[in-house]
Amino acid sequence: MNPNPISPGHSSPGRSTAQYQALDAAHHIHPFSDTAALNAHGSRVITHAEGIYLFDSDGNKIFDAMSGLWCVNIGYGRQELAEAAYQQMLQLPFYNTFFKTTHPPVIELSSLLAQVAPEGFNHVFYTNSGSEGNDTIIRMVRHYWATLGQPQKKTIIARENGYHGSTIGGASLGGMHYMHEQGDLPIPGIAHIEQPYWYANGGELSPKEYGLKAARALEQKILELGVENVAAFIGEPVQGAGGIIIPPSSYWPEIQRICDQYGILLIADEVICGFGRTGSWFGSQHYGIRPHLMTIAKGLSSGYIPIGGVLIHDSVAKVLIDGGDFNHGFTYSGHPVACAVAATNIRILQKERIIERMNEDVAPYAAQLWHDAFDHHPLVDDVRSLGFFFALTLVEDKASRKRFEHGSSMALRCRDICLKNQLVMRATGDSMIAAPPLVMSRSQAEEFVRLAKQCIDEYARELGIRKDL
Ligand SMILES: *Cc1c(COP(=O)(O)O)cnc(C)c1O
Repeated sequence: MNPNPISPGHSSPGRSTAQYQALDAAHHIHPFSDTAALNAHGSRVITHAEGIYLFDSDGNKIFDAMSGLWCVNIGYGRQELAEAAYQQMLQLPFYNTFFKTTHPPVIELSSLLAQVAPEGFNHVFYTNSGSEGNDTIIRMVRHYWATLGQPQKKTIIARENGYHGSTIGGASLGGMHYMHEQGDLPIPGIAHIEQPYWYANGGELSPKEYGLKAARALEQKILELGVENVAAFIGEPVQGAGGIIIPPSSYWPEIQRICDQYGILLIADEVICGFGRTGSWFGSQHYGIRPHLMTIAKGLSSGYIPIGGVLIHDSVAKVLIDGGDFNHGFTYSGHPVACAVAATNIRILQKERIIERMNEDVAPYAAQLWHDAFDHHPLVDDVRSLGFFFALTLVEDKASRKRFEHGSSMALRCRDICLKNQLVMRATGDSMIAAPPLVMSRSQAEEFVRLAKQCIDEYARELGIRKDL
């Protein structure tokens, strides 16, 4: 049976690359892109994918070390997810959950999430994306405090260079200045503190000392704003889009202490870390923190279909449930097809022990390869990994931690070399970052590190840094 008889099969793309590019340029505005520059070159056209590999319209096979956009945790081409969507579309393609109704897929997914989430997370609110999840959280925490009779507790403290999405709320929580510049952000009621980035900001402090210092910026900000005005703190357990910034081990326990001491809500944005990226089901578990709310998206459906949400701890859920109407929701909150796909994704993660196997076997193996390849490389420093996060920073001088003046354009050049060599890595600031699908095998990990090394070496030769590389 051909599940999709209308469109051409993936083995026979309907148009030439040039035709696709011309139509794309004529009609499609790309996210986070300089459209004129992109159109002058033409986009790469990805036509199909299998496992950890992408295939483009020119027939190239590409190693996807970014899991799409940090989301295809389970790898491409899982028939069960397609089948779940197909069957659900036949059965019940849509119904809302607004007006005293519900449906089996949203019920099944909600109870499954309660099963895989940390202790005490028994409720979920659905959105279509991580951005909407964080916008939901802004409204939810303000409603929470208002319900408790403290409506002035509104301000959410977030971090410089954090990423929480691209809606007005999400981009405001995020600490990306180049996003704030467009459209008058952040909105009122959001404050930012330093990110826990030892390599950039640690100076002479040890990572442990610096982690405490960065966390105590939260305490200072609470005191500055007045605890009576502060609703919550939000952070990604590991900053993803900001450049895979892995905080010192002292950071999160101190953040937890401060949130506990001042009685503010702790929000973990688990959109990237959730569903296995750190080696635990949730990044919060890796760091042993106890958030009140967790944003989820991306790995929730392995990116096969848009779905996001907010996992709500019992302590907050109780207030919301007793607090009357929550005047918030999306047409597609708990969409039956998205829920069916996400539930199937989670069952596969469970049944095949994908996260546990990655954590116990391939992650330590790949980390060793990564460090062996780059620890002594003259062009890079701050070589780092955690679970299936891998990153390094291009540096001018390792000994003095001196970074390149035009590091971000250099990283973009380096990324282009990777793409030319059929490896998808991402450039963020002066870092090169990767987050491969959790199903990457040992031999694929070897291929990944070999390719990455080949690209960094090629760039080092181009820069004239070491001829022998
Ligand atoms: C991607 C991302 C978001 C936004 O999710 P979208 O689905 O793109 O809206 C939010 N938070 C983090 C940590 C992310 O990485």
